[in-house]
Amino acid sequence: MIRPILRYGERPLHAPAADVAAFDDAFQRLVDDMIETMYAAPGIGLAATQIGVSQRVFVIDLSLGRSTGQLIVMANPTFVAREGTQLEEEGCLSAPGFNATVIRPQRVVVSGFDRHGAEQTIEGKDLLARAFQHEIDHLDGIVFIDRLRGIKRDLIVRKIQKLKKSGKW
Ligand SMILES: [Zn+2]
Repeated sequence: MIRPILRYGERPLHAPAADVAAFDDAFQRLVDDMIETMYAAPGIGLAATQIGVSQRVFVIDLSLGRSTGQLIVMANPTFVAREGTQLEEEGCLSAPGFNATVIRPQRVVVSGFDRHGAEQTIEGKDLLARAFQHEIDHLDGIVFIDRLRGIKRDLIVRKIQKLKKSGKW
């Protein structure tokens, strides 16, 4: 089932999520819904907090579902390593129409659990490292706009407030 994606400013998106406690049927349905919602958007990543579910799980597929074996489901992630920096343009399904350059690590190693509760460790470089950091930020209640500083951030937040007032957000 495709779930509505929360937008910047909607409360649940800005609160940290709790660890996944059980890899049960309800969790499998949540993961299926997240994958379907991500592909439908389309996006390369989606965190549970973006559909208003306060659980530490995200999905990533850099191929947008075009190639098999690219789908990552990661629950209760922690960073094992974070190295280097990259500065690239970034967007978010919770802030459609807005992009900004964000400093991210160039390489990360993330440990956690797959959808069935098996431990997994995945290395990500470049875009995948960026996606990992972006999604784990979501689980901590952080949207990429929150990572911006000064005028850049103010400008986007003001535009969003304007859209909200006119009922377009
Ligand atoms: Zn996002």
